[in-house]
This record gives sequence, structure tokens and C-alpha cells, in this order.
Amino acid sequence: MSCVLYPKTAEELANAINTLNREGIEHITLGACSNTLISDDGVDSVVISTQKLKGKELSGNYLYLLAGERMNSVCRFVCENSLSGIEGLCSIPGSIGGGLVMNCGAFGRELGDVVEYADILIDGKIERLDAKDLDFAYRHSKVKDLGVALGVCLRLAEGDKRAIAKDMKGYTIARSKSQPKGKSLGSVFKKAGDTSAGYYIDRAGLKGYKIGGAQISDMHANFILNAGGATSMDFVRLADYARQEVDKQFGIKLQYEVDSVPDIFSKEYI
Ligand SMILES: Cc1cc2nc3c(=O)[nH]c(=O)nc-3n(C[C@H](O)[C@H](O)[C@H](O)COP(=O)(O)OP(=O)(O)OC[C@H]3O[C@@H](n4cnc5c(N)ncnc54)[C@H](O)[C@@H]3O)c2cc1C
Repeated sequence: MSCVLYPKTAEELANAINTLNREGIEHITLGACSNTLISDDGVDSVVISTQKLKGKELSGNYLYLLAGERMNSVCRFVCENSLSGIEGLCSIPGSIGGGLVMNCGAFGRELGDVVEYADILIDGKIERLDAKDLDFAYRHSKVKDLGVALGVCLRLAEGDKRAIAKDMKGYTIARSKSQPKGKSLGSVFKKAGDTSAGYYIDRAGLKGYKIGGAQISDMHANFILNAGGATSMDFVRLADYARQEVDKQFGIKLQYEVDSVPDIFSKEYI
């Protein structure tokens, strides 16, 4: 039986997790689910969604956000308040909590660059950890290994509202010119060194390649689109095929950027 909980406050989230842990009930936490493939068989454990865990508190240049805040809403807010630092992240379709876990980034900036501290539920207790303790790296942090993120404080800089709005618009246009519009989970694989995974998948001749309803985008080879009726297994088979071809043709072992629930990606390269 599946069950989804939607806590509205950090306390509700902490209580839910502590109760589930006490009762020995398995659970997972999801944000906007923009980076997570859900198995065709569904999810057995209790899902805790942060979609209703919203709140923003501004103190000077420091902005505290609850984990369920969406990146686009946060970017609108910082622009209205003439704060700069996350312009490049404005059209990432995830939550702040998911972004913290993935250290989401775009156009040369990563969320971790502006994190001051995060509040994380670790073994039943809320702990406040500085950015330096969160091990931010390219599409990586240790937040999920530690526990569940409840909120995060961003350190922004004073800026000019019009310039910030112009930059955000520029980044949004640049994204719409380089990424397909259909249903996807964003980039499937991480960069290999300094080279995008899409470069190798394209060179392997796989743009437009289809398995079932899943298709490698013609526009951006690191995106797999739902071209109609795609199952999660179509996605996995297509991604694994692309990975195999890139390895065979270039000796490059691609690693997944997207996550899955439960874990249905093959881990042989990790
Ligand atoms: C069209 C498109 C474009 C994208 N472009 C970019 C891009 O430019 N740059 C980029 O970095 N990403 C991009 N992404 C991927 C994705 O949007 C980001 O990684 C985003 O930060 C994920 O947030 P989410 O809330 O959707 O995470 P989810 O998919 O909900 O979760 C991701 C992981 O974080 C965990 N998690 C979520 N919330 C919490 C929490 N509060 N505490 C602990 N663990 C948690 C989940 O269990 C899961 O393991 C794109 C995706 C799409 C669909």
C-alpha cells in the first residue's frame, strides 16, 4: 500500500520521520520529483513529499527557505528584493531540498556556492550544518547521506533589480534554445570530466534513438523524452543502451545524474 505525507512545517516533517523510524516503517523523501525516476511497479515505502513545506524569511542578504520552496519562486522573490547570486538557477524545475541534495547548477553557478548553512534531521535531531560540512561538489553533496533537509539559508548579495531580472530572462531564453520542451528528467548523465555526456551520446549517433516510448532528444542528446507512453523500464533500457554505446565507442563510463525510486539503475560503473 502506498501512502504520501505532505508536512507543512519543519516540525511536522521531523515528527513524521521520527514516528516512522520508531515504528520501523520505511520511508523516502521527495521534492518536486524532477530528477527522480519512479519504478513502473510504484513505491512500497511511505513517501514524504516536501511540496507543501513552504516558507521564506529574509534577514538582510540572508534568505532562509523551507525545503519545499521551488527554485522559480525563490528566484522571483530574490529578484523582487534586489538580491543576486542565483540568477543562473532560475529555471531549474526542482525544490530547494532536492537542489541541495544534488547541488543543482547551471551557467557556471551551483546552489552550494551560496549556501550558508542547512538544517538537517539527523538521527531524530535537527542539526544546523555549515556549507563546508555538506561536501558540495559537482552534482553532489552529502545531505541525503546525513538525513532529511528541512531548510537552508542562502547568502546573497545586494544587486540591481533590473540587471538581475535581465540576467534571469537571458538564462531562461538560453535554456529554451538548448533544451527540449517535452517531458524529461533533465540531464540523464553527469559530465565526463569537462565534457558533457550529451557530446558523447550525440557522437555515438544516438540522437532521436527510441526504445518503447522513450527517446533521446534530437535537440540535446543528454535528455531522454517521454515521446508517448514511455515506461520507466523504457527509460532505463534506453539510458543503459546509450551508456553501453558510449563506453564501447569512446571508452567513457557515464554515471547517472538522475535518481530512481526504488533503485532501478544498474550500478556497475559506480
Ligand atoms: C527540464 C529539466 C531541466 C533541468 N535542468 C537542470 C539544471 O540545469 N541543473 C541541475 O542541476 N538540474 C537540473 N534538472 C534536474 C532537477 O531539476 C534538479 O536536480 C533539482 O534540483 C531536483 O530537485 P527536486 O526537488 O525535483 O528533487 P527530487 O527529484 O524530488 O529528489 C532528488 C533527490 O533528492 C532527495 N531529496 C529531495 N528532497 C530532499 C530533502 N528535503 N531532504 C533529503 N533528500 C531529499 C530525493 O530523495 C532524491 O534522491 C533539470 C530537470 C528537468 C526536468
